[in-house]
Amino acid sequence: MPGTTSIPETQTVALVHKQGDPVEFDDTYPVPVPKDNEILVKVLYTGVCQSDLHTKAGTAPSATGAPITNIKLPHVGGHEGVGRVVALGHQASSNITLNTLIGIRFLSTTCHACEYCVAGLDQYCQSATNHLHHEDGSFQQYCLLRSGKGTEDFVVLGDADEADTDLLKVLGPTLCAGVTAYKAVKNSGIQKGEWLTVVGAGGGLGHFAVQYALARSAYVIGIDAGSHKHDFITSLGASHYIDITQTPDIASEVQRLTNGGTHALIVTSGHPSAFTKLGDMIRTGGSLCMVGIPPGEVKLDMPVSEIIIRGLRIQGNLVGSLAETMEAVELVRQGKVKPRVQVLPFRELERAYELLESGKVMGRIVLKM
Ligand SMILES: [Zn+2]
Ligand SMILES: [Zn+2]
Repeated sequence: MPGTTSIPETQTVALVHKQGDPVEFDDTYPVPVPKDNEILVKVLYTGVCQSDLHTKAGTAPSATGAPITNIKLPHVGGHEGVGRVVALGHQASSNITLNTLIGIRFLSTTCHACEYCVAGLDQYCQSATNHLHHEDGSFQQYCLLRSGKGTEDFVVLGDADEADTDLLKVLGPTLCAGVTAYKAVKNSGIQKGEWLTVVGAGGGLGHFAVQYALARSAYVIGIDAGSHKHDFITSLGASHYIDITQTPDIASEVQRLTNGGTHALIVTSGHPSAFTKLGDMIRTGGSLCMVGIPPGEVKLDMPVSEIIIRGLRIQGNLVGSLAETMEAVELVRQGKVKPRVQVLPFRELERAYELLESGKVMGRIVLKM
């Protein structure tokens, strides 16, 4: 093949043999050889997303609320990876060279032809595949990706400077948590000097949403559970923190702090209790954007009359387009958004899941591969 660096024949991969099983590390998994329009990427860092945990456990909800069970097995999760190209197939895109820094995101292939792709809404492509359900993701040391003829499985992040670990370790989480939060803030239409409130502000998505809102010169309120999150959330730049365990009437507190309600509310939590009485926090004419997906058939608890009479704008959002991914990455590169990550060794993936389940993770867990 044209161009390779020293590549071993076997690698370590985190496998899930069936949903509900624990992660098993296989140290003798073959490193694939890229053919035709494929490239091989050596994964350097990868974020751990709540969706990985739910897919592994068999509790990830589909659009109907029913769990997604139709996944490739054995399952290799990970959709917040960064790595560098170490081998190229003969027909790989000419703009990809050895050492190019690559981002492995949620989406893998999109058709580039359906109405959603044409409209720049490729995350809703009707024939898309992704790194969560269909293709092996970044929980492996070497990841095979397609490149060419408009079917790139990845994001091109430029030249890789492996010495710049401060940047490399935070780019991964930007590819799922970051862009999802960025898109929610963009959808909200928030303007300079307006109030944006984030439910779940201390988590992976939430801590990004706080910062993307600040990058638009909004004032931010963070809502989360536990006094230990106060310092973290205010250190991100939020003006106020509301601890749900200590605040009997959260909506009244938001009304008081914002003098009439928040202009935008972003719900990053997927906990069923997060979807009640949201309208009471929002200013008339304001917006609600939901990005945390609750399991099952959780309903938004809001009277239709309230939505109409108070002119509320209600939106959901699934990750973001490729263009929005690059916009989210650019704000991180510029240092305007600083993802907070806790780095663990690859082999501690199961511990990362335990920490996520405990609700104690502030920011994002990133694995060093
Ligand atoms: Zn994700
Ligand atoms: Zn499409």
